[in-house]
Amino acid sequence: MDTQTITEKCREDDVKLVRLLYVANDGVVHGHTVTRSQLADALESGIALPELVQSFNALGHRSKDAGFDAVGEVRLVPDRSTFRVLDHEENVAAVCCSMREIGDETPWTADPRSALAELVSEFEADDMVPSLALETEFLFYSSGDEDERVGHRGLYTTDSIRDFHEVIIDAIDALEAQGIEVKKHVAEYAAGKHELVTDHREGLEAVDDYVFLRETIPSVAASHDIETTFLPYPFDATTNGCHVHLSLWGDTNWFAPTDADEPLSPTGRHFVGGILDHMRGLLALTSPTVNSYARLQPQAGAAAYSCWGVGNREAAVRVPEVASDQRETATRIEFRPADNTANPYLAVLGILAAGRDGIRNETEPGPSLDADPANCDDELLEERGVRRLPTTLGEALDALADDDVLRDALGDRLFESYMTVKRKEWELFTDSAATWQREMFRQTF
Ligand code: GLU
Ligand code: MG
Repeated sequence: MDTQTITEKCREDDVKLVRLLYVANDGVVHGHTVTRSQLADALESGIALPELVQSFNALGHRSKDAGFDAVGEVRLVPDRSTFRVLDHEENVAAVCCSMREIGDETPWTADPRSALAELVSEFEADDMVPSLALETEFLFYSSGDEDERVGHRGLYTTDSIRDFHEVIIDAIDALEAQGIEVKKHVAEYAAGKHELVTDHREGLEAVDDYVFLRETIPSVAASHDIETTFLPYPFDATTNGCHVHLSLWGDTNWFAPTDADEPLSPTGRHFVGGILDHMRGLLALTSPTVNSYARLQPQAGAAAYSCWGVGNREAAVRVPEVASDQRETATRIEFRPADNTANPYLAVLGILAAGRDGIRNETEPGPSLDADPANCDDELLEERGVRRLPTTLGEALDALADDDVLRDALGDRLFESYMTVKRKEWELFTDSAATWQREMFRQTF
């Protein structure tokens, strides 16, 4: 869409404010808002953005040693193809942005969206276009003096579907008005826990759409006086994931097996091998908050072991079972230990980089595990090389620090700033344990 078409659309739809969206190292969706009078300029040249935005963590603390200080600006430049009017709000439109150097079109080396765009274009150059669907789960609850659950409990019960019927209808309308096709609504096992399954999209578009979805659902729910959280483990026995479904396409699906007895082609298998190889560090990108590790527990419906399996929902990589006449179109992998606290550009970047490393090295993932790993004996797990996933953010960050493939994919500047910001989050959490142990034990001993 060109600038003139967008400004005309804004006039016709009485848009007064346009949000320029981006996601920083903290995994939070941010926006700078321009008025209609500034829109044409912003669409053409972008707006100034302090480099500092990449030094804040999700708790709003700035890491002084993340590599940015008070001096230093880049440009936040809208990708006009993502522009859309947000009909569910009043007089508002939004557009996803990349970060560029001030003087030219060079992507800023600490921009997550540009880093993913570059990797996707490398895949495209190899005739492997990533097709992606980010399957997000979230929880509706009520906030007051205390946060409380709302709705009925029970897996796929029609009670829980009916509880939120109006909200879900409004959310689907709002997403479809933006061109995001919703295929399914799932009310899951915990009260208030829901999932909207959206159609797959190519490369960056899939991630941009997900950013819009993250913006849309809480806003629609708020208009019904309902709070939304995407936190991975917001209440006991409640897990919100963001599974990433992925296949690679040239003329045909690179992951589809030609051998009817196999679930994946050799390329697909090697891609999975690469993911398992880099899993420990990858987790620091896909499950990047302290709370993420409360979700990644055995038999909690998420994933706790580094293994792959056909139709296996306790494996980190599931290959969904597909009917034999749909293997060409529907064969894909599902990466399960990802959640909505991730910067989605970095999560997808990490998965693609790990998978590509597997393709390049023809990494074999071993036979698929067709059982719940928590029910397998240690001998079998050892024989298959199945390991427990990191159990803390600190462990995953240590693994990421040692992963050169993921470092290369992010580039040094983005990698270093991300590590610093996330380490700070981890330190704040572990420091809080010092207070806890003093309080708990002072009177005991
Ligand atoms: N809620 C589970 C998770 O956190 C996923 C359940 C499912 O959709 O398979 O990953
Ligand atoms: Mg689900």
